[in-house]
Amino acid sequence: MKIQSVRGTHDLLPESVALWQKIEAEARGVFQLYGYEEVRTPILERSELFARSIGAESDIVQKEMYTFSDSKGNTICLRPEGTAPVVRAYLEHGLDHDGLIHKLYYIGPMFRHERPQKGRYRQFHQVGVEVLGSDHPALEAEVIEMLERFLHKLGVKGLRLLLNSVGCAHCRPAYVKVLQKELNKRQDELCPECQRRSKTNPLRVLDCKVPACQPVIDELPSILDYLCDNCRQHFEKLRSYLDLQEISYEVTPRLVRGLDYYVGTTFEMVSSDLGPTQNAVVGGGRYDGLSELLGGPPGKGFGFALGIERLVVLLEESLDLRRPRPDIFLAYLDEGALKESFGLAQELRHQGVFAYIDFQGRSLKAQMRLANRLESRFTCIIGEDEIQSGQFPLKRMEDGHQVTLDREAIASYVKEDGAATS
Ligand code: ATP
Ligand code: MG
Repeated sequence: MKIQSVRGTHDLLPESVALWQKIEAEARGVFQLYGYEEVRTPILERSELFARSIGAESDIVQKEMYTFSDSKGNTICLRPEGTAPVVRAYLEHGLDHDGLIHKLYYIGPMFRHERPQKGRYRQFHQVGVEVLGSDHPALEAEVIEMLERFLHKLGVKGLRLLLNSVGCAHCRPAYVKVLQKELNKRQDELCPECQRRSKTNPLRVLDCKVPACQPVIDELPSILDYLCDNCRQHFEKLRSYLDLQEISYEVTPRLVRGLDYYVGTTFEMVSSDLGPTQNAVVGGGRYDGLSELLGGPPGKGFGFALGIERLVVLLEESLDLRRPRPDIFLAYLDEGALKESFGLAQELRHQGVFAYIDFQGRSLKAQMRLANRLESRFTCIIGEDEIQSGQFPLKRMEDGHQVTLDREAIASYVKEDGAATS
């Protein structure tokens, strides 16, 4: 029996990787314009990092983490998300000591033991951005504008930006109390999970996706009515900066992030093309409490994480990314000509030309068929005559146009013709 991949994980074959590379390249290109630098943290972390940050009560820590003990008895896990690791690294290496704002991004796999379904996997990938060291609302607007620029460059359409504030340690407790009281009255209308949440973490009820809970959630009090002056002003400033940049958003009071360390601004980008429970492509917000939770000094942080698989679903249909075409296919008549082709291919590649040689011992006719299938731009048939004379016949496949060139002239001819026709 053939061995299969692990449930909830996926191979990315070359035809899909082209799109992933495009997404990654656009992210790097756009983020750089705003002063972001890449950070790469390990996939393995101490489980405690997430128990402390996301919270031992959270779904991720309770049910979704891949945790195991190593031979020394340390409890290690595959990281379920990227923010806590980035802040851990930031503190561990003293990046907070210089008093500057640090703008960081990461791209990589995350692991959660969830029920696999479309848009929900056990190994999935995120592009994430974290900016540490400031709580200015204009900086939040800049991050959101950067995200929109990135998505726009990729040609993603139809995403809605949902925006909310979840308050802070001063104002949230009063709201949670009111919420809890309200939820207590309506226990029988809630799903079992929400009945539990109403006791342990009432805010999470707002995040529930079970249809039966929705009418109740719609009638719950809004956190925006309970914000303290600071939180309210911050939220208003953020909105005015977004307006200034002509970014549209929907204020969504029920939008609370699933993670405990968020304070103030939270946001999501959702698509209606992804289905009701996996519609979030991006989740983000402010997490000023995180640094202290991880044993650091008081800190400021704001960021987002974007699920690449969900983005790919939105882009797959609109983009036509074919495998790269060879610039030139070197077809050879015999072993001697293969040697010549081998050397020529090496020279051409040295000059940036994509040269292709067959290694399956095809006849000349079959090699030409392969060149057609690969959609090579040029072909060159090499035999004894060409080796003797040093003159090589190049055929442009598109229109059959043929020229004979010195060996040294091939690379520049192929490149110039490419520049002229592309
Ligand atoms: P959801 O509500 O969809 O479970 P989440 O709140 O758990 O999302 P975050 O922790 O904020 O998600 O992660 C940010 C983004 O990562 C999500 O918006 C989504 O695009 C993506 N994501 C999260 N979990 C998965 C998963 N299991 N498979 C694929 N993508 C995921
Ligand atoms: Mg989730």
